[in-house]
Formats: sequence, structure tokens, C-alpha cells
Amino acid sequence: MSRITIRIEPRHADGSRCDHPVKPSGKPRDAASGCMGRTAYAVVCSMHGIVGAPHHVMQLAEPAARAHRIEHLAALPAR
Ligand SMILES: [Zn+2]
Ligand SMILES: [Zn+2]
Repeated sequence: MSRITIRIEPRHADGSRCDHPVKPSGKPRDAASGCMGRTAYAVVCSMHGIVGAPHHVMQLAEPAARAHRIEHLAALPAR
């Protein structure tokens, strides 16, 4: 069984992934990077893809990612 990774992926308003450096406010750090700012945070699972609806703030995405990770742990056979 391959390792499952669950991560939080920041998104722009148009749904594309944001890999740009941003300030804590979510605004782009470098105006020349072409970044339009982060507006959503998607929980992405290596097995299920995007989990649920994207969250507007990181503070909501983190518990969703944690809850999904716990679901995977619960599904594993007992050791
Ligand atoms: Zn960006
Ligand atoms: Zn999953």
C-alpha cells in the first residue's frame, strides 16, 4: 500500500494553484510574479484528489485535512 499524503493547496480566484510566495494576509509578496492572491485552500489527498469544497481560509482547511487523515488512519487494519 502506497503512502497517502494529504496536503493543503492554495488556490487563486480562477481555481489555479498558487505556488507563489505570499504575505500572511494572502496577498502576493512579489507583484511581478503574476500572482493574483490566494482566495481558497483546497484539501488534496493523494488517493482521493480534492476533498470537499475549497475553504476560504487556511484555518478552516487545516481541520478538514486533519479529519480526512484520521479517516484514513481509521481505515487501516489494526496492528
Ligand atoms: Zn499565486
Ligand atoms: Zn483520502
